[in-house]
Amino acid sequence: MTRETIPAVGIDLGTTFSAVAKLDERGLPLTLVNAEGDHLTPSVVLFDGDDVIVGKEALKAIAVEAPRVAECSKRDVGHRAFHKTLQGKKYPPEVIEAFILDKLRRDAQLQIGPFSKVVITVPAYFDEVRRKATQDAGYMAGFEVLDIINEPTAAAVAFGFQQGYLNEEGSTSEPQHVLVYDLGGGTFDVTVMEIRGTEFIALATDGDVRLGGYDWDQRLVDIAAESFLRRHKFDPREDPIAAGKLWRECEDAKRTLSVRSKAAVACDHKGCSARIEITRRQFEEATLDLLDRTRFTTAQSLKAAGLDWSDIDRLLLVGGSIRMPMVHAMLRQLSGKEPDASVAADEAVALGASLHAGLILAQRQGNPPTFTIKNVNSHSLGVVGVDPLTGRRRNGTLIPRNTPLPVTAKRTFKTRKENQRSILVEIVEGESPSADDCTRIGKCSVRRLPENMPAQSPVDVLFHYEPNGRLKVRVIVPGADRQIATEIVRENSLAKEHLDGWRKFICGLEPTEYR
Ligand code: ADP
Ligand code: MG
Repeated sequence: MTRETIPAVGIDLGTTFSAVAKLDERGLPLTLVNAEGDHLTPSVVLFDGDDVIVGKEALKAIAVEAPRVAECSKRDVGHRAFHKTLQGKKYPPEVIEAFILDKLRRDAQLQIGPFSKVVITVPAYFDEVRRKATQDAGYMAGFEVLDIINEPTAAAVAFGFQQGYLNEEGSTSEPQHVLVYDLGGGTFDVTVMEIRGTEFIALATDGDVRLGGYDWDQRLVDIAAESFLRRHKFDPREDPIAAGKLWRECEDAKRTLSVRSKAAVACDHKGCSARIEITRRQFEEATLDLLDRTRFTTAQSLKAAGLDWSDIDRLLLVGGSIRMPMVHAMLRQLSGKEPDASVAADEAVALGASLHAGLILAQRQGNPPTFTIKNVNSHSLGVVGVDPLTGRRRNGTLIPRNTPLPVTAKRTFKTRKENQRSILVEIVEGESPSADDCTRIGKCSVRRLPENMPAQSPVDVLFHYEPNGRLKVRVIVPGADRQIATEIVRENSLAKEHLDGWRKFICGLEPTEYR
């Protein structure tokens, strides 16, 4: 009997574009084309009555039926609902992402047959809540998510593969410091990595989950809309359809401005029309503050890694927005180095994810790993306490950001009264000393503590970050022999029964075990 080999599939679930890659028979990663024949699928969803349409057609629909189109849902992940009501319905952002994943799966299946095991990528700067939501999206789309991997790390792995570091001879090469600058459509990530032979070690990571090419587009939209307003006294941004159409025009003009010194944008609204010319210089001036934010974050992250530019061997650029000449110019000026755009800007992340999937599948069959990844946490983990003097809710940091993962931190709490049976610990991620300015992960509820413990009994809570940045909590009561039940009651996550309902609705699959 021949054993079917399970394909090693990696998915780059981007804010604006997504890509799927798999390893071929020789172990080489390659991206798959979708049903439309493209390597990239727009991460855009059109809700058309009972039909849900994902990709190119949905992207086109922005110009004619914007109110029914969900774009940039990844930006809202971690919040309860997508910012826009679609056909009278509020969707959780991870559900919109699940529709995208479902389309990617159906299209990939046409080429590689049925599969369910995948690695999905996340921005390095995603917090724990967003990481979980991404795994939930995978579950709702019918996948078994083998792991999530940070996008810059995936890009570095693809780079390492391309450089030949992952083969046997490669492991003897000198350690290299690589700074990955990833400017996509909706997020910005920067990660400083050390590649030591087949080890990929993240030293520091930073970023912005609300900064990307989309913001550059919006500046062009503003320039064009204001020019239109001056001429015709109407603002196309006020009408969703005119605004959607204008955005499409501007995103296109932005791409033109990467290769030409000027571009034109057509705008029609209320029976008036205009052709607005924009120069590259004008565009660069209008977006300088956005570029500066990436410059600042890049410098910060290098500092957090304890390195100087002279220590950096490669400045690796990924993400579609690095095609803007201003990015290269800024990085050249900042680092004194020539940026390296040798990996495929929009495919490297998916390729790296498929290599990671291959690694996990091989390990499950008992093979030794061909490379290893070491990650850091992108946000500090803290527990909330109340300041006895001011009554303010304070964040007590337990695990500072940029700590190598996995890591476990212990915090001992004391029961307040005799025979106390439960405690509740509120967990946050973030850098602010004020708990309310951090991201709330949820409340860890410890129930069924042993009976009749005296007041002031110690209860140890262990907070454990897994290698991929997901959090697990365990509780130990010194002296008690049994495991104490505990769970994280999350604020902005879908409950299991909702995940199951969506899973059935999106891909017709029954519930399975999922933690
Ligand atoms: P994400 O992973 O966040 O979806 P990608 O890495 O796929 O993003 O990059 C998509 C972004 O890159 C979009 O904002 C798109 O407009 C931009 N982009 C793609 N090509 C160009 C180009 N030639 N010039 C400028 N921006 C571009
Ligand atoms: Mg990306």
